Amino acid sequence: MKSVYDIAIIGAGPAGIATSCEAVIFGVKNILMFEKGENHSQTIRKYFNDNKPVDKDWKGIEVELKGHIDFKDGTKESTLDLFEESLEKRVIDAKFKTEISQISRLKNRFKIITTTGESYFAKRVVIAIGKMGKPNKPDYKIPVTLKNRANHTISDCKGNEDVLVVGGGDSACEYAYFIHQDNKVTFNYRREKITKANPKNIKNLMNCVEDKEIDLKLGIDIKKVEDEKGKFKVFYTNGEIGRYDRIIYALGGVTPKEFLKSCCVEFDEKSKPYINHKNLNTQGVYLAGDICGSIGGSIALALNHGYNIIMDCMSQEFALEAKSA
Ligand SMILES: Cc1cc2nc3c(=O)[nH]c(=O)nc-3n(C[C@H](O)[C@H](O)[C@H](O)COP(=O)(O)OP(=O)(O)OC[C@H]3O[C@@H](n4cnc5c(N)ncnc54)[C@H](O)[C@@H]3O)c2cc1C
Repeated sequence: MKSVYDIAIIGAGPAGIATSCEAVIFGVKNILMFEKGENHSQTIRKYFNDNKPVDKDWKGIEVELKGHIDFKDGTKESTLDLFEESLEKRVIDAKFKTEISQISRLKNRFKIITTTGESYFAKRVVIAIGKMGKPNKPDYKIPVTLKNRANHTISDCKGNEDVLVVGGGDSACEYAYFIHQDNKVTFNYRREKITKANPKNIKNLMNCVEDKEIDLKLGIDIKKVEDEKGKFKVFYTNGEIGRYDRIIYALGGVTPKEFLKSCCVEFDEKSKPYINHKNLNTQGVYLAGDICGSIGGSIALALNHGYNIIMDCMSQEFALEAKSA
């Protein structure tokens, strides 16, 4: 008979890390965390530029931290260090390079199945997989010959390139700002105004535009993209044509609905995953972090979700004495 964990956590980003740390702090011993990457915090590692400033009150939304992870304004590196230390301080059974493909409900437990067919059992599951596993793609075709230069992050940017950054959120603003000194950058967003990004990011971008360091194309969409002698030939809806070495699509992530459906997650009438104020979706199934909302989340919110969940678990079953961190 395989052991039955008290809580299984899917995803080791801020939400999964907070859930597991709070669980240990409050005395839950039997926890298992799964992460498909070879280390925790894959979104931060992959999508944040090196030395990127990390804001606690992301997008100007003030969040009062409830839990024990002392997250502050910092950088990509200091944030990763904080999570590393938080995990190291607590003994958490974590399975890296382990992707979950399905969760099914049995009589009084859940069966958690990995993509390699292994199975685990837990009384409760916390789904904290974020949205960046599936970044949004444009609805026109990218020529196969240029696919390796149509990216979702700036990690492949080499410098001395003509780069088009597409998007209107924080990632787009940060990427354009970060690479503009080493590349010729054009910023394209289909709406007339950038409203979704952090005011600081908008300011940085607009300063560069004023100084003619970044070319701004607002209120214009892209109709199609062709390969012209190894470069992107971009046809804009206003008739303009642009030529670029690389395109960065910073269009956010998609809620993996099919995956969530195969994990016993219930949806509301608007086809959004349901959660209550305790992050509970349905009996024994919790959602934490970015996966909870239709708009982008934040690290601080994700950390608070972990705390909410453990408080709910405690109030339901684990009448254990609270321990300090
Ligand atoms: C460019 C950029 C800049 C940002 N800057 C800031 C900032 O300054 N401040 C801030 O507060 N927020 C910022 N954010 C938002 C922040 O990164 C997210 O809100 C936060 O990472 C969400 O945490 P999460 O745990 O929900 O998901 P993620 O961080 O996305 O973590 C999910 C984890 O689950 C794993 N996973 C996915 N699927 C599976 C599976 N099937 N099985 C096992 N593991 C799986 C992933 O590999 C990943 O490690 C930024 C986001 C981006 C893209």
